[in-house]
Amino acid sequence: MVARIVALFVLLFWLPTFTSSSSLSVCIVGSGIGGSSVAHFLREYASPSASISIRVFERRGVVGGRMARVAVGGESFEAGGAILHPKNYYALNYTRLSGLKIRWPNATSASDGRDDDGDFGIWDGKSFIFKTWRVSSKLPVVDKIVSFANKGLLFWRYGFSLIRMDNFVQRTVNNFLKYYESTESRPVFETVDEMLKWAGLYDLTGHNLEEELISIGLSPLLIRELITIITRINYGQSVSISGLAGAVSLAGSGGDLWSVEGGNWQMAAGLINRSNVDLHLREAIQSISNHGNYYELNSSEGNSYKCEVAVVAIPLDEVDICFDPPLSIPPRKLQHTHATFVRGLLDPAYFGLSSVEEIPELVSTIEDPGIPFLSISVLKRHDEKEVTYKVFSREAMVDTLLDQIFSVRKDTIHIDWGAYPRYKAPEVFAPFVLDGQHLYYVNAFENAASTIETSAVAAENVARLILSRHFGHVPSKRSGSESSTVDAGLHLEL
Ligand SMILES: Cc1cc2nc3c(=O)[nH]c(=O)nc-3n(C[C@H](O)[C@H](O)[C@H](O)COP(=O)(O)OP(=O)(O)OC[C@H]3O[C@@H](n4cnc5c(N)ncnc54)[C@H](O)[C@@H]3O)c2cc1C
Repeated sequence: MVARIVALFVLLFWLPTFTSSSSLSVCIVGSGIGGSSVAHFLREYASPSASISIRVFERRGVVGGRMARVAVGGESFEAGGAILHPKNYYALNYTRLSGLKIRWPNATSASDGRDDDGDFGIWDGKSFIFKTWRVSSKLPVVDKIVSFANKGLLFWRYGFSLIRMDNFVQRTVNNFLKYYESTESRPVFETVDEMLKWAGLYDLTGHNLEEELISIGLSPLLIRELITIITRINYGQSVSISGLAGAVSLAGSGGDLWSVEGGNWQMAAGLINRSNVDLHLREAIQSISNHGNYYELNSSEGNSYKCEVAVVAIPLDEVDICFDPPLSIPPRKLQHTHATFVRGLLDPAYFGLSSVEEIPELVSTIEDPGIPFLSISVLKRHDEKEVTYKVFSREAMVDTLLDQIFSVRKDTIHIDWGAYPRYKAPEVFAPFVLDGQHLYYVNAFENAASTIETSAVAAENVARLILSRHFGHVPSKRSGSESSTVDAGLHLEL
């Protein structure tokens, strides 16, 4: 008899709370691609009968986070996350779902992102130790010949190591593609470690890039030059970053890279618009307290919000949100990258050259403490006397230094980014579930690699994790939904 009463009690009270409760309130801190993707995938995967309220908090006046624009001399350019890989399928789908346009780097109306079609040179602080050719031609056939010749130049200098490098990148990209497999066969991951192990990527976080590349036979010259310039441009760091962050960085230097016409931030805006969320702009979350069956979030505006689930979609390394009870996660430092935008003209004398035309479109640099910048790239040529450049550096570019490098400087904008983690193998990851209950952390995945797409991939997993832990079953894509999963992405014509 007692057993029956207990069973009835469980049926009446326990089951509705933990397995079939059809309502859920979610508070998401951060409106970058991570936070906006969580909102999107919650809507995508939740059963139509579930009533989910979503609030998104953003401390700034605009969504998108590190996908931000900067105005230089009245024109707008990507200031942070600028380029996407052709196999960034979530980003491609976000673009399509929001009716945005893809901008290919060789578009003639180029006004943002890096000009990938241009030539590049490797500067060692005294001279260009390597330079590709540039020919300004309106004839595609001439462009093709120059591009072919440049490949020959690279091969002449670095030999078969280039092919080994390419194979290494392809292998990593292919493993990453597992995250787009059907939700029927793809598990939901509680930790980053499990998620990386499942895709065969975990081991790459255990060694640094240099060790990894030496072990597969890449030449020291290729590592010291071409690979170093890429990790410096993409992560502001040397080849001592982890093998996985390094492979992702190399993948982001290939061909067919793209961006969103008018700004990548529009992907986050599009997701938020479509996901029926309460967006709180200019409202920073200052504290998150666990009250047992709900979290209380207190904001800079003096407001207090209660949610059953709280999602942290920001890197916790430099924000001072007060958690009660306090959290204990592995320490991590952010790499600061200073992005300085200059409308003006480079001084050829700084580079030991006689004319500005001789300076490559992308000036990349090797590791040498005497070189004050990581890279200088042309964003737009307005005319012969005016060009907009983006300078990446580890330290702020002070005026006296800029005046040595530039002969003309009309507009200068400085941005100090807490840009991405300082990668250090072996990486130690914070869990996706920060307190074993319903406090989630999307940016735990950033130790693996920090990109727009990896944030989206981590967010998709976190959304499934939330739903499966709350509703008691692993959600799969709703049939008939407009799909932002890979089924649609893989079939996009690039
Ligand atoms: C200079 C630079 C170049 C890059 N280049 C590329 C690239 O070419 N390609 C690529 O794929 N990736 C690139 N990245 C990385 C990419 O931009 C990031 O990995 C990605 O945008 C991170 O998105 P996120 O949503 O995880 O975080 P974020 O974009 O940082 O979003 C977090 C948001 O939370 C807000 N916030 C913070 N604290 C609070 C709070 N307490 N309360 C409320 N809101 C808060 C922030 O204002 C921000 O909007 C680059 C990054 C930088 C900085």
